[in-house]
Amino acid sequence: MTTEHAPQASTATLPAHEPATQSPLGEFPVMDAAAVRDAVARARRAQRAWGTTTFAQRRAVMRTLMDLTLERHEAICRAAVRDSGKTMVDAALGEVFPVLEKIRYVLAHGERDLRPERRSSGILAQKGARVEFHPLGVVGVICPWNFPFHNLLCPAVPALFAGNGVVAKVSEHTTWSAEPYLELIRDALRAHGHDPELVQVVSGYGATGSALVTSGADKIFFTGSPHNGRKVMEAASQGPTDVVLELGGKDPMIVCDDADLDHAVEQAMLGVFTACGQMCVGVERIYVMDAVYDEFVRRVTAGAKRLRQGAPLGDSVVDCGAMTMPRQLDIIEELLADAKAKGARVLAGGERRRDLGPQFFPPTVLVDVDHSMRIVHEEQFGPVMSILRVSSEDEAIRLANDTAYGLGSSVFTKDRRRADRIAGQLRSGMTVINDYGIAYMIQSLPFGGVGISGIGRINGREGLRACCNTKAVVTDRLPLGKGVSVYPIQPTTYGLVRAICGVVYGNGVRGRARHVADAARLFAAEVRSRRS
Ligand code: NAD
Repeated sequence: MTTEHAPQASTATLPAHEPATQSPLGEFPVMDAAAVRDAVARARRAQRAWGTTTFAQRRAVMRTLMDLTLERHEAICRAAVRDSGKTMVDAALGEVFPVLEKIRYVLAHGERDLRPERRSSGILAQKGARVEFHPLGVVGVICPWNFPFHNLLCPAVPALFAGNGVVAKVSEHTTWSAEPYLELIRDALRAHGHDPELVQVVSGYGATGSALVTSGADKIFFTGSPHNGRKVMEAASQGPTDVVLELGGKDPMIVCDDADLDHAVEQAMLGVFTACGQMCVGVERIYVMDAVYDEFVRRVTAGAKRLRQGAPLGDSVVDCGAMTMPRQLDIIEELLADAKAKGARVLAGGERRRDLGPQFFPPTVLVDVDHSMRIVHEEQFGPVMSILRVSSEDEAIRLANDTAYGLGSSVFTKDRRRADRIAGQLRSGMTVINDYGIAYMIQSLPFGGVGISGIGRINGREGLRACCNTKAVVTDRLPLGKGVSVYPIQPTTYGLVRAICGVVYGNGVRGRARHVADAARLFAAEVRSRRS
């Protein structure tokens, strides 16, 4: 462990405030390695009983969790709004909706995804083969700040359904809302007589997250920056502990000359400005073909200028709230300054809204962007629409793939064949045609990235199974019980094994037939020599 991540004293606290109003929200403990290990031990104790529950029992808890989420919908959204600065609509769509859809998915399909699966036993015809999905034990979840409710619940739901305990390290920027969210899950467990200690939340900075990685948790689901993802993987190698890394993106959107422009403009606005762009699958680069470029730019610029910004729980309705993390505004300013110095032009926004408070950045439209600029390569994670002009499909694909990231991507065209052709060439974990980021709402689909966007998948069957020990089980199909033994090795044994390989794997009937005589002769010799 580096000095930077040495465990802090457990008496230390971290302050929380509302990004939109700067009102203080309280102080929270900075938990040290001992406190983290204690949380893992508590979850582990509770998991012993939970790990033996039936799918019907787990479904009952999930159903209650869904009911409580609906009952507490407004309180959940308000807590997310106060803690992260987003609007109530951003909270409803980005926090609660995907969690409800995830619960619906596990209720409908979780058992099917996790029940034992028969596999072919190949040449061992006398054997049966199956895969079983057992709980791992305690799963560690390390969360970023962008969607505090979703970032806690979305990994917790599949982990719990698969029979695990959960210890979540919440972000130092959104710690305040963690308690009501934890209580929501615990209330669902309590309602069915299960131990609420099964789910734990730990608070603190990077050191607390690092302590969770080396705490003995059985797997780590980390969502955050590539920089910290590498550190998590390095620390996890000590175990070794398995990791899933969800590390952000630099998602391209390609707008072809035959796109439905009204729709493309609307989706671009949503993709960039929802939650002020603080989304891993936010649209970070828009490649627009020559023929529609000017009109696209005109419409998104007018659209961006129309958006209202302000404190989300104030008197008037706003489209955009505040940025959650103060440092993110500095990053956006740095990237914009670099782009402008290299020739980019700002058509809307572009400057921090100090009149609203220190953490407001307005919807911004940036044109004349090119690949020499940092904003094309580094995640800006804010409300900046970077638009690049392209003259062909090939150029759009080449530039879209010119990134170290590879999370999501999207293509806008009315031509299905063209859409499939472009989508097939984009290097990313997900591609959406004529929409953005919607792959996340289809919970049957795996979610994750390539390149520095991460390792492993969450969501869908892949995500549920990622919470399991995928165990191979071999049984007797026939009541033989007796296996084949080569001991003691006879002078004929090697030749016999080689001949059998020829019989089984030879090319076609003629290729196999060549070995049959040898196999029969050597088998007879082998039997004779074993008897003597
Ligand atoms: P971050 O990497 O700074 O922090 C994420 C979490 O990791 C925090 O809880 C932090 O305390 C903890 N942490 C920091 N150092 C650690 C270490 N060495 N070991 C263990 N834990 C450590 O990220 P952030 O700024 O909170 O979030 C923004 C990033 O998250 C962006 O890059 C964004 O794209 C990414 N993100 C990705 C997804 C996805 O699903 N792919 C979703 C949301 C956010």
